[in-house]
Amino acid sequence: MPERGLLIVFSGPSGVGKGTVRAAIFESSQHQFDYSVSMTTRQQRPGEVDGKDYFFTTREAFEEKIKAGQMLEYAEYVGNYYGTPLEYVNRTLDEGKDVFLEIEVQGALQVKEKVPDGVFIFLTPPDLAELRGRLSGRGTDSLDVINERMEKAREEIKLMSEYDYAVVNDEVHLAVERVKKIVEAEHFRVDRVIGRYQNMVEMTTYASENDANAHCE
Ligand code: 5GP
Repeated sequence: MPERGLLIVFSGPSGVGKGTVRAAIFESSQHQFDYSVSMTTRQQRPGEVDGKDYFFTTREAFEEKIKAGQMLEYAEYVGNYYGTPLEYVNRTLDEGKDVFLEIEVQGALQVKEKVPDGVFIFLTPPDLAELRGRLSGRGTDSLDVINERMEKAREEIKLMSEYDYAVVNDEVHLAVERVKKIVEAEHFRVDRVIGRYQNMVEMTTYASENDANAHCE
C-alpha cells in the first residue's frame, strides 16, 4: 500500500491570489499534486467551468451533502456555501498523492480539527491596500461585496496564528517557490517518515537473524 499523501491546506483572504499561485504551482511543479475541486452555491462567473473551477450546485443539494456527512469542511462565505467533498480527498490521499485544498479560513480551521497532520499554509497580501486593489481589479464584485470581502480579510488575517506557515504574495513566482519549498520539506519531517525506517530496521533484523541461523546449520 502506498504511503498516504499530504493534505496541503492553502488558505488566505479572498483576492490574495490563492488561485493564481496555485495554478502556477501546478504548472511548474514536477511534484504530484492533485487539486480538490470545491463545491459552491455561488453564481458561476464568466469563463468558469463547472467541474474544473468549482462544482456549482444549489443550496438544497449542498445542504443534503452536509447532512449526509459528505463534506470534509464547508463554510458560508458572503452569502454562499463553499465546501470540500470528502470522498475525493480520502481516495486521492490513499493513492499516495498530495492533495491541495484552496479554501477560506473558517474551512481551514475545520480541516485542522479533523486532519491535524495536514500542512496549513496562509497566503497573505503584502498590505490591505493591495488586496483591495486586487478585488476591485477583478471587476466581478459590486462595491458592497468588495467591502464585505475586505472586512472578512481583516478577520482572517488575525487567524494566521492557527497556521504552520505564512507566505507573502508580493510576487507570484516568489510565493510559488516558497510554497514548493514548504511542501518539499514537509515530506522529510521525521514524524512522517519514521514508520518507514522502523519497518526497515525490523525487517533487517529478522533477515540477518535468519541468515545467521542458516550459516550455523
Ligand atoms: P470565490 O467566490 O472568490 O471563488 O471564493 C470565495 C472564497 O471561498 C475564497 O477565499 C476561496 O478560497 C474560498 N473557497 C473556495 N472553495 C472553498 C471550499 O471548498 N471551502 C471553503 N471553506 N472555502 C472555499
